[in-house]
Amino acid sequence: MDICLFCKIINKEMPSDIVIENEKCLAFKDIYPKAQTHILIVPKEHIESINSENSENIIKDLILTAKDIINRENIKGYKLVFNVGKEGGQMIDHLHMHLLSGGKIEMP
Ligand code: AMP
Ligand code: ZN
Repeated sequence: MDICLFCKIINKEMPSDIVIENEKCLAFKDIYPKAQTHILIVPKEHIESINSENSENIIKDLILTAKDIINRENIKGYKLVFNVGKEGGQMIDHLHMHLLSGGKIEMP
């Protein structure tokens, strides 16, 4: 089975523009930004989506990582978005939270 794209980014087998890395999460810039700031925050552990069992346990770490970025970059207002399942627009089956801010924000 192929390793998922975001696991490859986490394992540094694929390049990415990393914003923050901590014990539980990695944050990197979205390659096709839908706002001036568009960052993806992912758990280092491979979890498919919000629908996965116990996904709620990692959400706090995603939010804490987002707050860290927001404080560091002095971001005033922002959107946090989860796409869940194909019908919900999730294209990559590794749980991720979109952090969007600035300019005309499109739905990711
Ligand atoms: P989603 O539609 O919620 O699954 O979002 C997946 C996001 O991953 C999209 O916004 C893509 O632009 C982004 N993306 C895809 N490949 C890469 C990559 N190699 N590096 C950074 N972001 C990516
Ligand atoms: Zn993965």
